Amino acid sequence: MFGSVPTIPKSLDDYRPIIGDDKIEEIRELARALKGARVLHVNATAFGGGVAEILGTLVPLMNDVGLETDWQVIRGADEFFKVTKAMHNSLQGMYVPWSPEMFDIWRKYNALNAELFDESYDFVVIHDPQPAGILHLLRQYDPQAVEGRWIWRCHIDLTSAQPDVWDFLRPFVDEHDAAIFTLRGYVKEDLRRPEIAVIPPSIDPLSPKNGDMAIETVADILQEYKVDIHRPMICQVSRFDPWKDPLGVIDVYRMVKHHIRDLQLVMVASMASDDPEGWSYFERTARRAGEDEDIHLLSNLNGVGNSEVNAFQRAATVVLQKSIREGFGLVVSEALWKGRPVVAGNVGGIPLQVDSGKTGYLIDTTEECAQKVLYLLKHPKIATAMGARGREHVRENFLITRNLRDYLKLFTQVKARKAATTAAR
Ligand code: UDP
Repeated sequence: MFGSVPTIPKSLDDYRPIIGDDKIEEIRELARALKGARVLHVNATAFGGGVAEILGTLVPLMNDVGLETDWQVIRGADEFFKVTKAMHNSLQGMYVPWSPEMFDIWRKYNALNAELFDESYDFVVIHDPQPAGILHLLRQYDPQAVEGRWIWRCHIDLTSAQPDVWDFLRPFVDEHDAAIFTLRGYVKEDLRRPEIAVIPPSIDPLSPKNGDMAIETVADILQEYKVDIHRPMICQVSRFDPWKDPLGVIDVYRMVKHHIRDLQLVMVASMASDDPEGWSYFERTARRAGEDEDIHLLSNLNGVGNSEVNAFQRAATVVLQKSIREGFGLVVSEALWKGRPVVAGNVGGIPLQVDSGKTGYLIDTTEECAQKVLYLLKHPKIATAMGARGREHVRENFLITRNLRDYLKLFTQVKARKAATTAAR
């Protein structure tokens, strides 16, 4: 095979105090019928990005409930990853010129990985477009070699996918038994064969980024970054990317600062050394921030990791997510889980998380955003009540345990459907 990713064992029972006995029992019940099933998750990277973050918890939890679950990362070289990055962007709606050579490269590496596929599984979950050709190419080598049920899990928003790229990919996806999308609106209606499931992503409430944190630790972390815990602070955690509108965030802060003179703004972004777009957007943001010492632009490069993100989200009076376009926006659930109200762009998966007027506000313009942030800063009791409702909303809908349950349900359905089809033959 390609190479297993080691994960740290986890126990479903640790989540019992968070989600309660009934939900734990529901998961165990579903898992009982699938006990011993061999499951493989396949994706393109072991580190960085939401998919790796989810698999790091989902895989050990599947093992804990009795499925023999493995996570493997496909092999590839630079030329492949360049093509898959372009494919990813074009499927998310950015125009990318495509050449037959690019398709050939994608196919070549999928064929190479199909050749390495030498084990059998009951369920194979293929994440995203990079490895989506393995099933087809495996069948080409040896139709008998394909066993179990194959599921394609799409983590990206395909609504504005570039037609030539999707037309190329679609027949490969069509061979799968099921396809999972993040939102109902992201489902590609032209898929013919797979059973369609809608499963939103999730956060791990016990991870260093989301777990409880003592107020002293929060205070220490803020002090380390020279953020005053005694003054109001608003925060956005996001890549420096035009779609996350960091310039708009600074404008919002300025408008609100006019009324609340001691306001601070913390913007956290993870920067990759090989991401030129991120750097140029960082520079633009820094220029707009100017000499204002109450604006803190922080990143992994000055030591901001999971615990720091946890502390800043917790300490914020209001969390912003001023996105103009968004896949799901997991960072919104992360903030709501910490009991903070979120003022966020009315795009992508954000409206599923922010119930406007109840757990924060959905906004369309910078002015509206500033107005809502100011309102929440002036009404701390309302802000706290909204944050508390947000936490409950996330508990109910966006925790990793719900994601696990949805996978188990889908496995059960796909298994039943395949059994019925085989019996009918
Ligand atoms: N994130 C982080 N540090 C940063 C910026 C982002 O850890 O400096 C994390 C954030 O907490 C979230 C993920 O990266 O878990 C971003 O996921 P989201 O769905 O919000 O946006 P994406 O970047 O995938 O568009």
